[in-house]
Amino acid sequence: MLKDNIFQKIIDKQIPAKIVHEDTQCLAFHDVGPQAPTHVLIIPRKVIRTHADLTDADRELLGHMHLIAVKLAKDLKLDDGYRIVINCQDRGGQTVPHLHMHLLGGRDFHWPPG
Ligand code: AMP
Repeated sequence: MLKDNIFQKIIDKQIPAKIVHEDTQCLAFHDVGPQAPTHVLIIPRKVIRTHADLTDADRELLGHMHLIAVKLAKDLKLDDGYRIVINCQDRGGQTVPHLHMHLLGGRDFHWPPG
């Protein structure tokens, strides 16, 4: 179930996070409940509740977030590969109502994802 937007509190610096990247469009920080040795979340500053709420206006932002993911994967030495995940709404397993990209690495990932 989608709960409070705790990520807005991280953007507003009301709660701490281990931030690894910050710019005018997005923020990236370590996930508090890592599912892999490296687990970083990349979020836009703009409030977009879910992936399904993206519009044409967000094209550039999405491209930017992907390029930040590539940069972070290099910085965090995920040279053998990594997984990008965006959970969308209840059936997709989304719990925080603020679009976020999971960057996971440091172990093997399998398919189907479960
Ligand atoms: P999702 O299930 O796709 O909505 O992912 C939400 C993610 O946010 C989960 O992996 C949580 O562990 C993570 N999370 C929740 N609260 C925080 C927080 N305060 N700081 C960092 N990560 C968080």
